[in-house]
Amino acid sequence: MAMALGFSFSSSLTQAASKGMVGIAMPSKVLARWVNDGDNMVKQFQAAGYETDIQYAGDDVATQLRQIETMVLKGVNVLVIASIDGSALSSALQLAADSDIKVIAYDRLIRDSANVDYYATFDNYQVGVYQANSLLKGLDIENAKGPLNIEVFGGSPDDNNAYFFYNGAMSVLQPLIDEGKLVVPSGQFGMDKVGTLFWDGATAQARMDNLLSAFYTDKKVDGVLSPNDSLAIGVISSLKGVGYGSGDMPMPIITGQDAEIANIKAMQKGEQYSTIFKDTRDLAAVTVKMVDAILKGEQPEINDTETYDNGIKVVPSYLLKPIAVTKDNWKEILLDSGYYTADQLK
Ligand code: BGC
Repeated sequence: MAMALGFSFSSSLTQAASKGMVGIAMPSKVLARWVNDGDNMVKQFQAAGYETDIQYAGDDVATQLRQIETMVLKGVNVLVIASIDGSALSSALQLAADSDIKVIAYDRLIRDSANVDYYATFDNYQVGVYQANSLLKGLDIENAKGPLNIEVFGGSPDDNNAYFFYNGAMSVLQPLIDEGKLVVPSGQFGMDKVGTLFWDGATAQARMDNLLSAFYTDKKVDGVLSPNDSLAIGVISSLKGVGYGSGDMPMPIITGQDAEIANIKAMQKGEQYSTIFKDTRDLAAVTVKMVDAILKGEQPEINDTETYDNGIKVVPSYLLKPIAVTKDNWKEILLDSGYYTADQLK
């Protein structure tokens, strides 16, 4: 109640033209994608007549909790949250619910709380399927003599998305592993073994170093399933460190996600095979529409009411379509759409 009063005071006296204040909590600026997400949301919210309070938490859970609590106390009208640890926000969300502030989980599902109203994201399972399909295409699995050696990496175990990416990818890879066409020499599977805490590239690099020295003294790696671009960079560094990408050691087929600039460059150099583009402009647009509907007391448009069970409830979601990108289509997807300029990718 106090919050509602706080807002009507500021909205009627100092922000008469504003349709309301949107609190946007973002995980970190390490990946350009989150910076783009934030910039696109601020731009689009402002164009739609909203004010924004955007905070990045440097991938620190306690900081994010504090930022969200502060937004609630300031009386934002709605919260948009890309969580760091999807299971750690219950207390802040309870505070929001007590003040009648609706919550949209942005890109990553917020788990273990009833106080998550909507979820705007990409089809995360499909992302994993596309990653695995591109790995197979790059390996030319249909014609390759095989068996081919691959290793599998997972995203951060505190990020719900990481399981969707992993499960989507394994739905494609597992049958080929069972058939013996693909071999995983380390034998390491399952998010508990292949997960990479905080999506940290250096951690992925260290794990790849270990895999190479323990399992590849007498064989070569043909492919690496990397769930995103920051991990791909770590994997590439590790492989280069032992001579892949030169002489008679071609770079393995390496996947990714986010179409980060460094990775599109790596793709042009033949170091990374594929990435997945998730247009942050579209995710921002969906989120703005959701907020607009919520604050008008209408039902936001959703297209999935089954997939995202957060442990307490199935959160109504809007899923966008991801796009698989390789050297064959990156220009069309990333330049022609105006997402990047040619100069940025030189
Ligand atoms: C996002 C990815 C991103 C990863 C690391 C995931 O939740 O969906 O796009 O690469 O987090 O930030």
